[in-house]
Amino acid sequence: MTTIIFFRKNIVLLIDLHEAKMSINFMEKKLISAVGSIALDWLELPNGLNGDTLGGSLSYFTRSAGVLAPVSVIGVIGSDFPIEGVALFKKYANNIDDLQVKNGNSFRWGGKYHANWEDRTTLYTDLGVFATFRPKMSETNRKSSLVYLGNIHPSLQLDVIKQISSDNTIIVCDTMNLWINTTRNDLDKVLKKIDVLLVNESEAQLLTGREKIEDSAEIIQRMGPINVIIKQGAEGATLFSKDKFFYVPSYTIEGIIDPTGAGDTFGGGLMAALSNDLLLEEGIIWGNAAASFCVEGFGLEGLKNMTEDSFENRVKKLKSNF
Ligand code: AMP
Repeated sequence: MTTIIFFRKNIVLLIDLHEAKMSINFMEKKLISAVGSIALDWLELPNGLNGDTLGGSLSYFTRSAGVLAPVSVIGVIGSDFPIEGVALFKKYANNIDDLQVKNGNSFRWGGKYHANWEDRTTLYTDLGVFATFRPKMSETNRKSSLVYLGNIHPSLQLDVIKQISSDNTIIVCDTMNLWINTTRNDLDKVLKKIDVLLVNESEAQLLTGREKIEDSAEIIQRMGPINVIIKQGAEGATLFSKDKFFYVPSYTIEGIIDPTGAGDTFGGGLMAALSNDLLLEEGIIWGNAAASFCVEGFGLEGLKNMTEDSFENRVKKLKSNF
């Protein structure tokens, strides 16, 4: 039995990882307000698969977290956004009051993966209605206990941070190479305001100039967030929290079909755990379990298999490795 003591916002919490139970009553869960991109993607994969699909950081996040926790979405779609996409948000979001619908084209992104399945080249980015997007949060969402800043321009992440009206809100943030390279000043401001940063290994290296994840994590902690989660792809993920670390291996799957959105899906699992009053350690287990569904299908297809039951089974299996 693994008991972990964890300090969060001056509260000492105890968790037994083997006993932590999911509760399916949404009334007992903390509200997550999440901002991110909602996109029409074009994907080209090393296995020869390519095509159009619904995407964006907020779509993957909502599909994953929304099975397990109440999510309020903050985003924008254009008048061309397909009905199936709207249906996804209606089904998996608890609240779409802050989902803006604007005249014009939805955000479009094209990506081509390299043979190693990890690196990818952006083929195009057409901002469409995203170019003039300004997040606007309802009173309820401004008070939410948890805020997830999905991968979007850091100035938009800052817009959301400024609207949060509770001092106790836990803010978790994701970012990408593009923003580390091009909008460092805004990103530095975001880092000072957040509780948890989620990055993958190459983003951590780019942000800090350090090769080893433990060195990168220490430097990032000095930039602001006391908790840093480094996603290591097929290897799993490691949480660095003050002077402690906690590593979780990935859930073993038969074969990867498409890695797009795995990071956002991981974020969804993580935030769902926090919504259920569980700790970041449990959160990275949930994140790994959720991401394993994502990579099993093209675009959002793999997540069709993520139900409460199938998710709980994968969480149990991951824990049996400890
Ligand atoms: P991930 O694989 O976790 O990095 O997420 C992939 C998703 O990020 C895709 O569905 C894209 O639509 C979205 N995306 C790619 N580039 C950007 C960008 N510059 N801003 C916001 N979202 C993006």
